[in-house]
Amino acid sequence: MATPTQTRRISCATPAPSSTPNLCCHPRSGKPLSGQHDTTNLANADPLLTRAKKQKAALQHLITHGPQTETSLKCLGFSATVIEGLETKGLIQRIRKVLWRDSPKTASLLAEPDLALNDEQTHAIQLINLATSFQCFLLDGITGSGKTEVYLHAIAHRLASAQQTLILIPEINLTPQTLERFRHRFNSPVVAYHSQLSDTEKLTVWQQARSGYARVIIGTRSATLLPLANPGLIVVDEEHDNSFKQQDGFRYHARDVAIYRAQQENIPIILGSATPALESLHNALCGKYTLLRLRHRPTGHAAPPLQFIDIRGQRLQEGLTQIVIEAITEQLHAKHQVLIFLNRRGYAPVILCHHCGACLDCPHCNAHFTWHKHKNCLKCHHCLTQQARPETCPQCGSPELKPLGQGTERIESTLQTVFPNTLIRRVDRDTTQTKSAMDRLREDINRGEPLILIGTQMLAKGHHFPHVTLSIILNGDTGLLSVDFRGTEKLAQLIIQVAGRAGRGTRAGKVLIQTLHPDHPVLQQLKQGGYPAFATHALLERQQANMPPFGHVALLRAEALDPQAVYSHLTQIKNRLCQQINLSNPPLSVEVLGPVPAPLSRRAGLSRQQILLQATERKPLHHVLSLLEHTLHHSEIPTQRIRWSLDVDPIDLY
Ligand code: ADP
Ligand code: ZN
Ligand code: ZN
Repeated sequence: MATPTQTRRISCATPAPSSTPNLCCHPRSGKPLSGQHDTTNLANADPLLTRAKKQKAALQHLITHGPQTETSLKCLGFSATVIEGLETKGLIQRIRKVLWRDSPKTASLLAEPDLALNDEQTHAIQLINLATSFQCFLLDGITGSGKTEVYLHAIAHRLASAQQTLILIPEINLTPQTLERFRHRFNSPVVAYHSQLSDTEKLTVWQQARSGYARVIIGTRSATLLPLANPGLIVVDEEHDNSFKQQDGFRYHARDVAIYRAQQENIPIILGSATPALESLHNALCGKYTLLRLRHRPTGHAAPPLQFIDIRGQRLQEGLTQIVIEAITEQLHAKHQVLIFLNRRGYAPVILCHHCGACLDCPHCNAHFTWHKHKNCLKCHHCLTQQARPETCPQCGSPELKPLGQGTERIESTLQTVFPNTLIRRVDRDTTQTKSAMDRLREDINRGEPLILIGTQMLAKGHHFPHVTLSIILNGDTGLLSVDFRGTEKLAQLIIQVAGRAGRGTRAGKVLIQTLHPDHPVLQQLKQGGYPAFATHALLERQQANMPPFGHVALLRAEALDPQAVYSHLTQIKNRLCQQINLSNPPLSVEVLGPVPAPLSRRAGLSRQQILLQATERKPLHHVLSLLEHTLHHSEIPTQRIRWSLDVDPIDLY
């Protein structure tokens, strides 16, 4: 297989601060340049460029972005003449940089031996390895049951015939962990693709995937469409995760696109999860997918049972019950690690005036400001507005502003008071912005010393923290009363995933969940029969309501400054659509519901409303959607100041 190993690149003769000096030799001296140069003003200062605007722009681009390939410069509109002009003046030079080498020709594909599989894993692997054409497998395995080990075996099988595997994971933060585990196992090139790579890094991985050099490609949502020279298998890990859905611009669900892609490439695909999406489960139960189940942890410990703590009428210490504090103390004494989940960033989600009862709200959204005490500012988590916290109530002038409720920052500071000698690490979007912060965090966790982790959603996803023996969910009720039809599904997945972080190593785990509704059927189903019991009930409910996966829905969202304009626009669209539906022969069986305000009815100053289309069959729904699209694009209804979007199979109704 042809595997390009080098690419010609162009760099400026004076290296930009971030470039590697020994790759950028000055043509005249021929010596590697070292030291920092004031490169920012180079283009302005150089008299050779006073009348060559394009050349100046190209040079400035190289200074800012470092070495580029000729092709990428041309894509930006810099012609060969511009590049040659700069070259002739000695301001830039062509260099060859080795981007990657050929795959090592080692005798063994494996860098470390495979683990001996248990019976359930063996059965799964046998079926997956037998598949030589499109087949969709749902690997429904409890947390820690060795799903990743199954992927590794399946990949090894494809590597033996020089085939590539694409692995989709939900979260960038999982990449280093997954990458490490896969690189440890294989002698073949394992690469990662995600949105935090620079354009140049993305291009390299893109070429490595397309040329066939990269045999294992691990990526987030956007990796779904990477070109592959010789694809053999696709894996979607944590397939239930909502981050696979792109929620703006071009809306797509990476899992669904991956399935379509596997079908086009005629290769098998594995969807893996401990808490499969109800859609996937339904497809497996009705025989569309092959269901593979892993019900045991190879380490011997069962997945930990769920223990609910009824917080009604209890005295809480800043959101923590005495039972929780004692359980943490016990684990820390035993030198174990503890994970605490709370799906709320910041210090407090509400600031209330004790005098007049007003809350500090975002002026642009129907939402409260969250107080971030660390930065002493108010942030709106919907439109990202940020402002200083006032000293007094804007309504009545009283200084009695009280923070209500707990966010991760507040719990962190409470824990610091209760456990002053323990290392406490907060894991949320505010603390994990940089790669070095994530690396430090991983180091702390992997050292295995007593530690309390407090974090949001990020902590719940697929991590393997072998030293964590206790998982705690502080607010186990979020989602129980949600207006969203997927609210309880999301909650059930979250509880099982957070619970699954405990007891993954050699020691058994424990799970505590604080709740105001310990008797709620969803929580009881989870406690007694785990996710399968919940899923059975939830599927029945969805069937009765004709909601996905039994019915199919699409959402037309519209937003504008003027609520009346959105309403009348959507009403006209609806009327026209209903006319068309009734005129068709036979009438299309699609219900058009709305317009109604979106659950967050105002965001970033815009009023948001929506129309829901619901059908039992996909075919009439798509027929109506094409009518709708036509109406939206060609109607004389003024749409100038109304922004709309059409979301087929929305994952939430927001
Ligand atoms: P999952 O992906 O289902 O959460 P993992 O594949 O991460 O589970 O496995 C959990 C732990 O069990 C890991 O430490 C892994 O090395 C170990 N493990 C998996 N399969 C086996 C096996 N067959 N024998 C021994 N240990 C195993
Ligand atoms: Zn007030
Ligand atoms: Zn806002």
